[in-house]
Amino acid sequence: MVIAMRPENNLSRIGHLSEETEFFTPMPTGYQPGKTKYVIVVGTVMSGLGKGIFSSSLAKILQDKGLVVAPIKLEGYLNRDSGTLNPFRHGEVFVLDDGMECDMDLGTYERMLNQDLSRLNFTTSGQIFSSVLEKERAGRYLGRDVQMIPHVTGEVKLRLRELATAAEADVVFVEIGGTVGDVENAYFIEAVREMSYEEGPANFCFVALTYIVAPTALGEQKSKPAQMNLKLLNAAGIHPNIIACRAASPVSTKVREKIALFANVPMDRVFSMHDCDSVYVISEMLRGAGIDAAVIDLLGLSDKTDSAAEESARKTWASYIARFRGALHPVTIGIIGKYTTVRDSYASIIHAIEHAGAYAGAKVQLEWVDSADLSDANVADRLRGLHGVIVPGGFGVRGVDGKIACVKYAREHGIPYLGLCYGMQIAVIEFARNVCGLTHACSTEIEPDCPQPVIDLLPEQKKIEGLGGNMRLGGFDLVLTPGSMIAELCGGAERIRLRFRHRYEVDPKYVAALEEHGLIFSGRSPDHPIMQVLELPRSKHPFFLATQAHPELTSRPLRPQPMFIGLVRAALTKSGVLAENVRELTARGMSPSDSLGATAAQA
Ligand code: GLN
Repeated sequence: MVIAMRPENNLSRIGHLSEETEFFTPMPTGYQPGKTKYVIVVGTVMSGLGKGIFSSSLAKILQDKGLVVAPIKLEGYLNRDSGTLNPFRHGEVFVLDDGMECDMDLGTYERMLNQDLSRLNFTTSGQIFSSVLEKERAGRYLGRDVQMIPHVTGEVKLRLRELATAAEADVVFVEIGGTVGDVENAYFIEAVREMSYEEGPANFCFVALTYIVAPTALGEQKSKPAQMNLKLLNAAGIHPNIIACRAASPVSTKVREKIALFANVPMDRVFSMHDCDSVYVISEMLRGAGIDAAVIDLLGLSDKTDSAAEESARKTWASYIARFRGALHPVTIGIIGKYTTVRDSYASIIHAIEHAGAYAGAKVQLEWVDSADLSDANVADRLRGLHGVIVPGGFGVRGVDGKIACVKYAREHGIPYLGLCYGMQIAVIEFARNVCGLTHACSTEIEPDCPQPVIDLLPEQKKIEGLGGNMRLGGFDLVLTPGSMIAELCGGAERIRLRFRHRYEVDPKYVAALEEHGLIFSGRSPDHPIMQVLELPRSKHPFFLATQAHPELTSRPLRPQPMFIGLVRAALTKSGVLAENVRELTARGMSPSDSLGATAAQA
């Protein structure tokens, strides 16, 4: 294959790619060198600096200028995806529309960029090595010994260029998981180093995120750990163009000077990135500091930027921040779950509530209730003072009785209820037992030999049971019953699209019995007998809604999710804010239903 020659990159010098050259660089078809620029974000000192938040905020401020941005996270672990990861250890498993189970950072990118991502935006070492090994078996390396360099690094470079080509991106944002110095991301760092040479300096920008410690005993910021770790980056052959210093409070000029001097980076490209009250204000902080200007300058992108588009994007975003800050009516919503000690396991739910709160004018306090501690005996006490409850997604037996007790109490006492995935299955079990008289009703996930399995494995999933990968994953359409509460919340939409991640569902055999007793299945799959939304009539309950989907995954600041808006509004009413005032609080300009209709139509 011959690579088009362009003076500003070194790919021309690599020339003809064949098994003979040391420059083994597989290229996707249609790749145009120089068309896409790359911003590489690497972390130093320690993990947990908010690299995903930083990188997505930076991508956002370039997107605001009218540039097409495409993020990718390179994850060091050997799992092929995040599907089997324990949310206790890793935070929530985020699911993309195409069914990819990925790191929760992808949720941050989708929310920040208001853009649907796909499996092209997420790669793990497991995926990289699997591809290399498959290619080796298929004889694609033409008899060569297969090596970390150039073959594994070649695979990484291929992924980045595939994304650039598919997204027709002006800028690809590459977030390298982990910290410089880790064994598991070393070959990612080597791959981007090689690629910076190939693409040429005008097309590559390295941003190092570092951390400034401030030991309480000293009472001042110290830069040594940052300096030492930036040296590691130099040792890997990478000289950062920009350094962003994470810290609890604004980084002093003295510390920035030290960093600039030791890392050979001009002072005006060493930025303070201190803590702030919401992740959504970081983009404005970066813009205020001038990081966007530095990137545009380094990558020569000024001709492509559109200041009118930027102005309007900033206004829209600022209006969200203003609503978020100005939302004053306090309500308390309980999350009844299993992973309540690790908030990251419910990251998207927390965000969805924040978006809905901003929209509806409510300042939502969350209360975490461990379902393992709940029972019929203490539920009234534990749920006291809550204006609404959520039973979120979950797996397995632990805490199930507590969740059932919670749903029963919420149903019988008119507490606004939103069930998400497992929360819908639990609502069906509770209703079957306590309203339909099916006293042994359960899910086969909880009780495999249950005599009244109202929740059972999906028929088509049963066939593949045991082979792994038997979850129903990704975006699917839902057909809504006209006139139902869900249809009304979605602005009269007949079809919406949500994301799913489940193995079990309502057994269609029991649907008639459940409906006869007053449960309404108001959202169904258009092509399978899968119940996707249930509700109770408003005459029976102020707000009782549950879905087999994960609506939290598609809530965005500028597109709050209608089910969460419904819950927050019902919670406001419950807290004493009059229903007619709740409507007045509702924000204009944030448009939940428009985009839902559009998304379903595109599907
Ligand atoms: N455990 C249930 C199932 O597999 C629910 C899954 C979930 O809540 N994501 O169907």
